[in-house]
Amino acid sequence: MALNVLVIGAGMGGLTAALALQQSGHRVEVVDRVTELRPVGAALSVWSNGVKVLKALGVGDAVEQASGRMSAMAYISRHGKPLTQFSLQPLYDEVGQRACPIARATLQQLLLDAVGPENVTLGLACTDYRCDDDGVEATFAEGSMRRADLIVIADGTHSMLRERALGHPVERRYCGYVNWNVRVAASPDLAPLDQWAQYVGDHQRVSMMPMSGDADTPEFYCFFDVPLPAGSTNVASRYREELSEHFAGWAEPVQKLLERFDPDAMARVEIHDIEPLETLVGERAAILGDAAHGMAPDLGQGGCQAMEDAWVLARMLDNAEGDIAAALKAYDEARVERVGQIITRARQRAETTHGADPVATQAWYAELAEEDGTHIMSGMSKTILGGPLA
Ligand SMILES: Cc1cc2nc3c(=O)[nH]c(=O)nc-3n(C[C@H](O)[C@H](O)[C@H](O)COP(=O)(O)OP(=O)(O)OC[C@H]3O[C@@H](n4cnc5c(N)ncnc54)[C@H](O)[C@@H]3O)c2cc1C
Repeated sequence: MALNVLVIGAGMGGLTAALALQQSGHRVEVVDRVTELRPVGAALSVWSNGVKVLKALGVGDAVEQASGRMSAMAYISRHGKPLTQFSLQPLYDEVGQRACPIARATLQQLLLDAVGPENVTLGLACTDYRCDDDGVEATFAEGSMRRADLIVIADGTHSMLRERALGHPVERRYCGYVNWNVRVAASPDLAPLDQWAQYVGDHQRVSMMPMSGDADTPEFYCFFDVPLPAGSTNVASRYREELSEHFAGWAEPVQKLLERFDPDAMARVEIHDIEPLETLVGERAAILGDAAHGMAPDLGQGGCQAMEDAWVLARMLDNAEGDIAAALKAYDEARVERVGQIITRARQRAETTHGADPVATQAWYAELAEEDGTHIMSGMSKTILGGPLA
């Protein structure tokens, strides 16, 4: 049975949900409070589980084409000593799909084109919704309202609407570090062009990941992580000076990167997550993406889990043949434990990488020096193969 679905939020979660629901024959409208869709942040890695969902929805080939070829991975000490370096091909062979690091703007545009811009209304901030016998009625800041059979709450980590669905507020938790991210022209004096290189030391991290599918203008998606108190000063004109202080004495490629990035193109984020939720649904409402499971980016799974959510929600609605409550219950059962576990693992990874327990971080540096890739790839493979399209 075709439903009228209102999706709140046109991020990668809301757009992927819209696409999946359209393909199941539902009438979908996406609304977003911004007047122009400009993703915050430089790029992201869509890991194999996310790419599988995008391929099943018909946009994965375009995503793959526009993404960087990341065929190897390396950890290097702050002084430039290689700790471990290995091919990612065994992982890709095992899971049946490579990862696709891609510019956020490119991914958003590909999803928007697939959903159809005519199905997305910008400049509408949803303030609340309520359910009645016939459906759900959402209200908007400028006074308008919309009715639907089902509302998909995909309004991101600061979600206002999840509180209405859950009946209680959800606090965001600071993960203890700040991330600066930016795109930089790739060049072999920074890192091999097909390798994800990560420098680690002093509880800090510098990462360079190949992200552009265009061979003429290859780019790295770069980020710097530094443990800092919440609410520290954020002045773009000081980013270079500030990061140069944090990374003084680090290896030559890090120093070159510090000279080359454009501070005005850089995003700075204090990393937060939320406690795993007890449910991802309310009456006639599915919570999805960061609204449902804002997590530390340390496993690179936030967006991928949003894509999995979208796929599973559409399948559960297909199976329930118009019984919305049954579909939501099945969606919740399929997703709540998986995303809760990934929030927890991402938090643990963030703490280990960023020195929450300095002894554990030192032990991790020592482990990296013994690593041949087997252990790291086994963790990634478990996460990927736990998805709905394994
Ligand atoms: C530094 C960093 C690195 C990351 N790296 C990765 C990675 O490598 N791989 C990965 O998979 N994930 C990664 N993530 C996570 C990923 O960015 C998020 O999981 C993803 O963007 C969530 O998408 P979303 O659609 O749920 O939310 P969002 O992208 O936040 O979209 C929410 C949308 O809702 C709109 N909105 C909000 N409130 C309202 C309202 N009241 N009414 C209407 N519209 C509203 C907003 O304007 C926004 O457009 C990373 C995150 C960070 C911070």
